Amino acid sequence: MSESNLEEIFIKRSQQKKKTSPLNYKERLFVLSENKISYFDYDPEKKKKKALKGSVDLEKIKCVETVFPDDSAPSERQFPFQIIYDEGPLYIFAKSDEIRKKWIHRIRHVVRFNKDLMQKYHPCFWEDGVWKCCQQVVKQAMGCRVLETRNGGFKQSHRKSRKPLPPTPEEDKPCRPLPPQPPPQQQGPGPGSTVIAEYPYVPQGPQDLELRKDEEYTILEMGDANWWRAKDKYGREGYIPSNYVTEAMNGLERFEWYCKNMNRSQAEQLLKTENKDGGFLVRDSSKAGKYTVSVFSKVSGETTGICKHYNICTTSQGQFYLAQLHNFTSIPELINYHQHNSAGLVSRLKYIMSNRADSAPSPFGLGYGVWEIDPTHLTFIKELGCGQFGVVKYGKWQGQHDVAIKMIKEGSMSEDDFIEEAKVMMKLRHQNLVQLYGVCTKQKPIYIVTEFLSNGCLLTYLRDTLNNPTAIHLLEMCKDVTEGMAYLESQQFIHRDLAARNCLVAANGTIKVTDFGLSRYVLDDEYTSSAGTKFPVRWSPPEVLLYCKFSSKSDIWAYGVLMWEIYTLGKMPYERLNNSEIVDKVSTGLRLYRPQLANERVYSIMSICWRDKPEDRPTFIELVSNVQDLLYEMQ
Ligand code: ADP
Ligand code: MG
Repeated sequence: MSESNLEEIFIKRSQQKKKTSPLNYKERLFVLSENKISYFDYDPEKKKKKALKGSVDLEKIKCVETVFPDDSAPSERQFPFQIIYDEGPLYIFAKSDEIRKKWIHRIRHVVRFNKDLMQKYHPCFWEDGVWKCCQQVVKQAMGCRVLETRNGGFKQSHRKSRKPLPPTPEEDKPCRPLPPQPPPQQQGPGPGSTVIAEYPYVPQGPQDLELRKDEEYTILEMGDANWWRAKDKYGREGYIPSNYVTEAMNGLERFEWYCKNMNRSQAEQLLKTENKDGGFLVRDSSKAGKYTVSVFSKVSGETTGICKHYNICTTSQGQFYLAQLHNFTSIPELINYHQHNSAGLVSRLKYIMSNRADSAPSPFGLGYGVWEIDPTHLTFIKELGCGQFGVVKYGKWQGQHDVAIKMIKEGSMSEDDFIEEAKVMMKLRHQNLVQLYGVCTKQKPIYIVTEFLSNGCLLTYLRDTLNNPTAIHLLEMCKDVTEGMAYLESQQFIHRDLAARNCLVAANGTIKVTDFGLSRYVLDDEYTSSAGTKFPVRWSPPEVLLYCKFSSKSDIWAYGVLMWEIYTLGKMPYERLNNSEIVDKVSTGLRLYRPQLANERVYSIMSICWRDKPEDRPTFIELVSNVQDLLYEMQ
């Protein structure tokens, strides 16, 4: 017997080549050999195979997948799978899920290099002239469900691993950061892999490639983290914004119900706003690599409802379940099941709630290699505020993308140095950092154009907008900041002015860090000298106050103070002390008190950021896991 030989008795469904022919189910002995799957009549008494009844050439197989069992199926037909080849689906029923899995796995392995492998399939049966999943009536109709793994692939999920990074080298001199490297904790597609456009993209320059939503592209080159060179199915090549596409293998992103990057508070807000009994979504759990189903339920007649959050658990065999006894080989199958059966949940999953309708993100730098923006493409809509460099306005770029525009007051910035640095800063990209889109430098005043966040500055948001925030919401805000800062740390980029006033709040409540590194270009002694009135003394550790020694560890100290600002809802740190008293007292051991809203665990996280010696303080990547663990315990 060759290595791939397998034998098993299965129930086979007749292939119903004519719409009206009756369906029947017969026990057959299936044999998987080197180049085909054959099935035989079988004598159960003598345990012998009899006549050959049919076979499928392995090279013709296009897909092997489980099938959703019929509601009324008898117990011996609970584990169906399908083999799709030229003549349509062959439906086979295994005795157990384990046997089914073994066969699917083995067949997928041998057919993994076949031509024409399918990417979509029908998760339910073809019966009496109709696909029961999508009601299409043509047997050849394209599948209605995207395969979670391609037929041949046994890819691990592409979730980011949260393993701590290797220690970041400390930077002594506060000079120019090293050129950015791809952050080691992020995995993703590589050259040669296939991606799918999540949004359409209209080329902004001759080097760009148009993206059409849901179409596939092959990645050719990823030298720039934001702009990848890609090829479309017609062979056209060009640059695409990397945040417009998702990897084709990355299963869940294709499903409307999967709300990547949504946290618990945001999920609750969305579900409550929609106010639909059975509204649901699937999101990343606060535990890395895990997922949570959030469901909204209303007792009939009531106006308010409740949100429930269920973690998707895995069995030791790698199956998924929400309620025990209902295990599935994939998350989409599990969701599909619970869309029809509440089975222990507060409600059946009736309505998909999605944040997908949100408009496309702004493409980085608004065109490949373009960091100089044409000011005539900007429309100014309203003034947002006034900062160290002057007025900040909200506007549109090319009439459609929201942007914030800093109009740099003459004499307030060391402009040439900044313009040089802007090229590096444009490449910093993270969902918790405010994106720099480009600059207008051919005129005075020069403009800095960035992502616009409609909820404005975090400090004002804490003071004026937040109303009885939950403990989880406060910690989620901290988590957003730690994630953005962990990215900066991985790029060896020091912020130097981290504080609630330098964080902004997006429409959905996500917090993003802004103004990183900008303080180096301020021309104002009151701001740059540690004795100056505008120097961020309250956010500075002793080594900065005494020796101006900036590092990622001084950012950590400032992060502890920012966390304190969050938990006091925007109080001024060391309220009763003036700057010189703070320098004295902090260098001799004074620390901020525990805010009322912070429990001991939360306060201990702030406190480790304020350790005397910089090397005793944690890294941001460690803080990310501390905050994540705590969040997970709270849910
Ligand atoms: P500076 O950093 O020059 O001191 P700020 O960044 O503090 O200026 O900007 C002044 C105000 O403008 C902020 O408090 C905030 O309310 C608003 N603002 C700045 N940038 C943005 C942005 N990207 N999106 C929304 N509002 C912003
Ligand atoms: Mg600022």
